[in-house]
Amino acid sequence: MVSVVNDSCIKCRTCVSVCPVDAFHEAEAQMVIDPDTCIACGVCISECPVSAISSEDEADAATVAFNAEQAKVCPNAND
Ligand code: SF4
Ligand code: SF4
Repeated sequence: MVSVVNDSCIKCRTCVSVCPVDAFHEAEAQMVIDPDTCIACGVCISECPVSAISSEDEADAATVAFNAEQAKVCPNAND
């Protein structure tokens, strides 16, 4: 089960530095996770200071869709 970021994200970038596969992309107002890259390790979930990251089964459908859509069009956060 991949992880997703919700709109509580404050773009602190902590998650970007801990993800082993560079799955984070930078959207205009928040980070998002590419579901095709995330390996569901779960490391980022506990690192987020505002609890903006969860497993996709604990997020609403709009958040899951937003992550997938924005990850395709927004730059990788490690670039
Ligand atoms: S750690 Fe949380 S608040 Fe910080 S950029 Fe990542 S998702 Fe956003
Ligand atoms: S669950 Fe693991 S692979 Fe997926 S975004 Fe978080 S740190 Fe990266």
